[in-house]
Amino acid sequence: MSQSQIASARPVILTGDRTTGPLHLGHYAGSLASRLALQHSHRQYLLLADAQALTDNADDPTRIRRNVLEVAFDYLAVGIDPALTTICVQSQLPALAELTLLYMNFVTVSRLERNPTIKAEIAQRGFERDVPAGFLCYPVAQAADITAFKATVVPVGEDQVPLIEQTNEIVRRINRQIGREVLPEAAARLSAVARLPGVDGRAKMSKSTGNSIPLSASADEIRAAVGRMYTDPGHLRAADPGRVEGNVVFTYLDAFAPDREDVEMLKAHYRRGGLGDMTVKRRLTDILVAFLDPIRERRARYAADPGEVMRVLKAGTAAARTVTQATLDEVRAGLGLVLEAEPEPA
Ligand code: ATP
Ligand code: MG
Repeated sequence: MSQSQIASARPVILTGDRTTGPLHLGHYAGSLASRLALQHSHRQYLLLADAQALTDNADDPTRIRRNVLEVAFDYLAVGIDPALTTICVQSQLPALAELTLLYMNFVTVSRLERNPTIKAEIAQRGFERDVPAGFLCYPVAQAADITAFKATVVPVGEDQVPLIEQTNEIVRRINRQIGREVLPEAAARLSAVARLPGVDGRAKMSKSTGNSIPLSASADEIRAAVGRMYTDPGHLRAADPGRVEGNVVFTYLDAFAPDREDVEMLKAHYRRGGLGDMTVKRRLTDILVAFLDPIRERRARYAADPGEVMRVLKAGTAAARTVTQATLDEVRAGLGLVLEAEPEPA
């Protein structure tokens, strides 16, 4: 087998991030860690989802634009390798928009409104009845993203699972309409930490809610964020027994401490009593600083040469344009949207 045949035999991954802000620890635990591992065994595409970011940020397009590079710096800083992973920019791939438009006819508004992720996000953003049409329809656009690359594996956090289900419904509907398996179904692949809570103890660390520790955080910023972290409200004095469950500091230790045994010992001590919040927080701070220091240094080197990073994005986007256009051509032809005279009746 030639090198390119080996590459094409690999299962295809598509994931990405909205370019609403720099990435944070939740992204690392929820998806970047698996992307790093999977880039060696899969054909991986990473999408900088600037068009999707616009669906709830239409009043601030410069924020979206600025963060295309910021997220790219994060990818490269954690070790995403452009020789193994194609990094591309959503708004520069017109086939994605066209597929979205076609798929829109195969999903109902009420199905979109019932999507649990969308429901939660609408509530979180306070849209109520004024939800932008683009926002309500972003699951359709996401189906276009995934299927345009014919991805079968989508490494994501837990919040995304209903969106993959939505994608597969569209895939089945389109394939049924066309009469053959033009599009493959995709499987969500959850990492061990499917949902990292925010430092405030809220369900999910998120760029949009100000409860995150960005991958670019300095030691002082990490210390301040850990200091604010939600612990056990019943644990008033160090001598008191404390609860580990729902205690954000321990959730982070579980996710990021390199030494599992050490974490188990800390947990036992905390449960017994005699271990103060400040001590555990200092431990977590040290671990996070040691983890993020090299990432921040590498990130600063990429940020010093944005022209080079832009070249990576342009090359990746050009490659992605070819792949996504081929899928659009197939779907369009399958649906009979071609500029040809009617075939002769048999
Ligand atoms: P925004 O608030 O703008 O939506 P976000 O922080 O939710 O930003 P996204 O770009 O929407 O980030 O998500 C990108 C990917 O990261 C998704 O696969 C999502 O599941 C994952 N992810 C985001 N936050 C977390 C988290 N706290 N824990 C685990 N995975 C996460
Ligand atoms: Mg999100």
